[in-house]
Amino acid sequence: MGVRFELQSCHEGLVEHGLIIPTGEPGVFGRSAVFEDVLERFNDLITQAGTEDRAETCVFPPVLNRRVLEKVNYLESFPHLCGSVHSFKGNALQALALAERARAGEDWGDMLGSTGVALTPAVCYPVYPGLAGTLPAQGRIISILGWAYRHEPSDEPTRMQSFRVREYIHAGTADQVSRWRDQWLARGIALLRALQLPVIEQVAADPFFGRAGRMMANHQVSQQLKFEVVVPVISMEEPTAICSFNYHQDKFGQVFGIRTADGEVAHTACLGFGMERVVMALFVHHGWKLAHWPEAVRQQLWPKGAPA
Ligand code: ZN
Repeated sequence: MGVRFELQSCHEGLVEHGLIIPTGEPGVFGRSAVFEDVLERFNDLITQAGTEDRAETCVFPPVLNRRVLEKVNYLESFPHLCGSVHSFKGNALQALALAERARAGEDWGDMLGSTGVALTPAVCYPVYPGLAGTLPAQGRIISILGWAYRHEPSDEPTRMQSFRVREYIHAGTADQVSRWRDQWLARGIALLRALQLPVIEQVAADPFFGRAGRMMANHQVSQQLKFEVVVPVISMEEPTAICSFNYHQDKFGQVFGIRTADGEVAHTACLGFGMERVVMALFVHHGWKLAHWPEAVRQQLWPKGAPA
């Protein structure tokens, strides 16, 4: 029996086996303990693969200082994906009107005002401001697991509004950073193939907005600035990206004042594993019950004994 790559069967399988818990809003769902166990075990495997990096680990909340979005021109490139946090700042009378509208099922968004934060659209964004100044000779490597938000409501289970990404970020010289990215591309592919996922790499582009965005995407492809590792999850013809490798050249170095030890503007690269997507790929390829997964895969994920 072959693996079924269908939107319906993937979503139904995840729900029927209690792995995800629908909330009524497309692309927003709960994760079961079994789902989380696989995710955590995979996260540990990434940590092992990155041991050599001696990365600094840090944690940021899923909200981002709004200024960072402004500085990186996020609203020029991805206005359609942006999520901004708004809150109520009115008086008692306006509060009554707000509650009244909510009770009546009417829209109340225009009664809120913006706050200092937006939802983090890329897990590495909060890291760059903290790298300002002069880097040590070997540069800096940061490891982070965080939540990302994209306004892409969809019934397709791999297209979530809120999801986790495990990222590594390297700031250093152009040579250090691009060599490191290529090394991680090989590590990432080896890691996913060891879990018996039939992944391939491809040159990719970000989903930039509009006409100007198409030019930015073309530039990204021609300069090979972005690679993705893809695997069939919901479709054989259109495999899902589960890992991306991005070379930003000196963009963030310029914006945030990051310099190399010899005074040049630093280059940066990041790589990210889409954690929920990897977990879904494992369930689709190996079956809905962990007990049925190939023994070699179970041993990789649970070296001290796999769950029954
Ligand atoms: Zn990143």
